[in-house]
Amino acid sequence: MIAKQPAPKCTYIGPTATQGTCSKLCIEGRSYCAEHYSIVYQKGTANRKRKKDIKRANAVWDFESEINSIVEELEGEGLTF
Ligand SMILES: [Zn+2]
Repeated sequence: MIAKQPAPKCTYIGPTATQGTCSKLCIEGRSYCAEHYSIVYQKGTANRKRKKDIKRANAVWDFESEINSIVEELEGEGLTF
């Protein structure tokens, strides 16, 4: 019988160092316990989502300035809206 390797401890460090590290056992193949793995994972997806939102906001901004320049051009030709 092969002795199973003991699961490593969670390496999560909270927002403040005073909390110290977590002493729970890791999920198999992960560096964090179940609780902290979900926290770290959610943080990662939140960051990705925010980046995507910024990208979309920039795209909308470009579209609006494009429309504005077209409106200005047409107004310059004597058209009013
Ligand atoms: Zn933990």
